This record gives sequence, C-alpha cells and structure tokens, in this order.
Amino acid sequence: MSVTAASLRKSGRYRIRPNDQPTVLRPGNLKDLQTILNPDSPHELPFRPMGADTAATDCNSSSSGTVIDMTAFNEIVHIDVAAEQVTVQAGVRLGPLSSALAAQGMELDGSHDLVSRTVGGAVAGGCNGPAIGEDHGLFAAQVISMKLVTPTGNLLTVGSGQESLLSVFRLSYGMLGVIYEVTLKVQAIAGFKASHRRCSLAQFSRAIDPLVRANVGMRFLFLPFSDAVYLDLRRFDDSARATANIPWKIKDWGESTVLPHVFKSLNRIIPAPGVRYRLIDELSKLTQGLVSSRLVSNGSTATAQSCGHGAAGSLQYSTWFFPAVDFSLVIQAYKDFCARIREESGFRCDLPTVGYRLSRDRSAVLSPSFDEPMIALRAMSTQKKGWDDFAIDFGDFAKHWGATPVFNQTKEVDLAHAKSVLHTRLEYFRKVRRQIDPERRMMNPFLSQYFL
Ligand SMILES: Cc1cc2nc3c(=O)[nH]c(=O)nc-3n(C[C@H](O)[C@H](O)[C@H](O)COP(=O)(O)OP(=O)(O)OC[C@H]3O[C@@H](n4cnc5c(N)ncnc54)[C@H](O)[C@@H]3O)c2cc1C
Repeated sequence: MSVTAASLRKSGRYRIRPNDQPTVLRPGNLKDLQTILNPDSPHELPFRPMGADTAATDCNSSSSGTVIDMTAFNEIVHIDVAAEQVTVQAGVRLGPLSSALAAQGMELDGSHDLVSRTVGGAVAGGCNGPAIGEDHGLFAAQVISMKLVTPTGNLLTVGSGQESLLSVFRLSYGMLGVIYEVTLKVQAIAGFKASHRRCSLAQFSRAIDPLVRANVGMRFLFLPFSDAVYLDLRRFDDSARATANIPWKIKDWGESTVLPHVFKSLNRIIPAPGVRYRLIDELSKLTQGLVSSRLVSNGSTATAQSCGHGAAGSLQYSTWFFPAVDFSLVIQAYKDFCARIREESGFRCDLPTVGYRLSRDRSAVLSPSFDEPMIALRAMSTQKKGWDDFAIDFGDFAKHWGATPVFNQTKEVDLAHAKSVLHTRLEYFRKVRRQIDPERRMMNPFLSQYFL
C-alpha cells in the first residue's frame, strides 16, 4: 500500500466534518439550462451535471456549488429507422429508450445493462457492457453528434466532420459543458444466444485467451472465496430473434434486487462472519445456478438489460480495466488479493465481482481500451464499513497490473498512475479543457486532481 493511500485511509476512529451541501437545480428546458450556466447567474460555482447519479465517484457532485440534474430532459426526439439513428435529450434513461427502439425493431448498438442510467451520463462517463464482437466498445462510441451548453452558457454542436473533437467530448465527465441532446447510431434488433456455464478459476484462466479473441460477448461473475466463475457468453444468432422479456427480468430481479437486499439483512442479523459469508456464497451460487444458467438462453440488448436500481443507491463499487492479454494471471492474483485483504482486515465484498470484455475502442481520447482490448473487473459490496480501505487496496492491486480507470466508476486513482496509463491523451484532454473552460467553472476538487 502506498504512503498516500495509507494516509488517506478512513479508519473510522476520526469523525469527519459533514460536507456542505451543493444546490441541486433541475432545469426543464434549454433556456433554463442556459440561464443557470450564464456568467451572470447567481448560482455558485462549480457546476456539475448529473444524470441518474449512479457514479461511484464525486464526478457528478460537489461539496459546494451547483449540481445540474438533467433528468427532466427526457424526451425521445426522433427515431429515424431508415438512417438507423435516434435523437434524444440527455436525461432519457436507457430503459425507456431501448423499449421505444424495440417497438420499431431497433436497438442500441452494443450491450449496456443498467436501464436507469441516462444517455448523458452514459456518453459523458465510461459506460460499457458485454457487447458481442470486436467493434463494440463504449456506449459513447455510438454518438454521431451532440449538443451542449458550454461552461459560459453558449450553445455548441459537435458532430459530423468533427470526429477528433467528438473524441474529446465523449467521456468528458461534464467538464466541457452540459450535454442536452444526443444523436446515436442504432441498429436493427440482432438476437443472440446466451450460454451459461459454471467453471473453476483454473478452467476460466485457461479459457480466457481464446474467449478474448472469439466473436462473443462475455460477462462473468466471480466468487473469489468459492473458486467459482459463472460465465455468460453471447453469440449473434438469427434464430434467437424472437426473445421474451420475462426470463431476463426474473434473472435481473434475482441478481440486482433480491441478492443485495438479502445480503444486507444477513450482514445485520448474522454477526459471525464465517457463517454469514458461507451462507452468502451459497445463495450466490444457488441464484446463478437456478436463475441465470437455466432461465435465459435467447436475448437481445433490449431484453437483457438490468434494472439494478433497486439497490444501486446503496451499493459500493469500483471498476478497473485490465489488459486482456494478462487477464489469465490477473484473475488468479485477484483471488489471492481478496484472500489477503480478508485475512488482514476482516473485510470482503459480499457480492460477486462482475467482469466483462471491452473491445479496443479509440472513439474517445479517455477511452480505457484505447490501445488494446481490456477486461473490466467491478468489485461490489452492500457493506460500507471497511469498503473505503478495500477500494484503496484494490486501486493498488490494479496499479500493479497496469489497469486503466474511468473517472465515474473507479475509486482511488492516483494521478501518477492515471498519467502512466493514459499517456499523452490525458495531457491532450487537459489542454482542450483549459481552452473550453479557462475559468474552471465546471471543475470540482475531485476532477481538478486529474484534469487542471
Ligand atoms: C448497480 C450498478 C451497476 C452498474 N453497472 C454498470 C455496467 O455494467 N457497466 C458500466 O459501464 N457502468 C455500470 N455502472 C456505472 C454507471 O451506471 C455508469 O457510469 C453510467 O454511465 C452513469 O450514468 P448516470 O446517468 O448515472 O450518470 P451520472 O453517474 O449521474 O454521471 C456520470 C458522469 O457523467 C456526467 N454527466 C451526466 N449527465 C451529463 C450531461 N447531460 N452532460 C454532461 N455530463 C453529464 C457527470 O457529471 C459525471 O461526470 C453501474 C452502476 C451501478 C450503481
């Protein structure tokens, strides 16, 4: 553990003074949004745009200043089936958008699980899922054009013929202005077959290299204390076109709502960690065995979405992206890391670690897979106590293995490491940011650490 990390630890022995609260504004139209950002507005700096607020970091908040909640911008402006495009306001949630597209035989390109998140948050932040194939990476890659209100309240459109500028605005974490409308590439619904299997960590490690090269969408749940990996592999298949929602909904309900709530209760009522965690792991295995492996075999991006929001607000998580070439070793080391932390601190995550492949994606300057395919590892827990220290240690682990962060999902990123993995791209982004917002109107302390 680094010295900085050690000094940042929150041991619980000290009382931290509660933060000041930011003002939260929810503009309902473009004029209101411009008025808020106008230099003459009375609202306190910095301005931080917020979507569904599912970020794990302070990228969408501030201890003072003004949070701009964009969820009232919730209109699907136009679905153009012939041109395979949809234009939406930035506060539209992925769930309703997927349903509206499905009604016209269309779907979002790629796979982006969580239905509650907003288009603006998914474009401005790192957002990805178990997409099938080599050329599907970030959600933001689907952006054809976007409209923003700049940090000083002016209107700006970034779009066709401005690909290199677009690549800076994708994954810009709201630092270059507030996105209010986006046109996205969509496609005709392509059904997939999903196969589920359970394997040991050794089997999974052996399979990982061929899987990374294969034309499959890969998601997995890893139970580091049970030597079990539950693999969900997706392949496009024309015969899978007619897909039913219900089995996916039940699967999602089991994984995203029932288990986190049950685990929270078990953490309260069973004091002995050994017994509690044995029960928790058995329940995870049972749910995966019954719900995932047996229930769902055909799907599409619309049906396979997760409602996750049942527990989202109370979940702790941190996601790092590891180079796929090393992943057979990384996952073994991650198991040992979890065991060591449990031994040293008594803490372990109660929810399974989620992983998925992210193809190489150069559509955004700050893309975590700009140079090579990556595998995301998302550690998750329902327990707050002990989590902050775990996130620091997970950050050290990730640093050791050359993992890349995204600033809305990755906790405890140190600047030197961010510089080393994002190379000159970080400097380039900073230069553009300084030009667009020289007065740092959009910069809160969290983002200032990396992007001033
Ligand atoms: C249970 C759970 C499961 C998750 N699963 C996944 C997963 O499978 N894959 C994945 O990639 N992520 C996942 N996430 C993370 C999260 O959903 C994504 O980061 C998502 O993209 C954030 O969308 P949001 O609408 O909540 O945005 P927020 O979290 O509110 O904001 C994210 C960033 O975007 C900026 N922003 C938001 N709206 C705008 C706007 N209109 N204009 C400019 N900037 C804006 C914010 O300032 C912030 O920097 C998960 C989170 C939870 C809690």
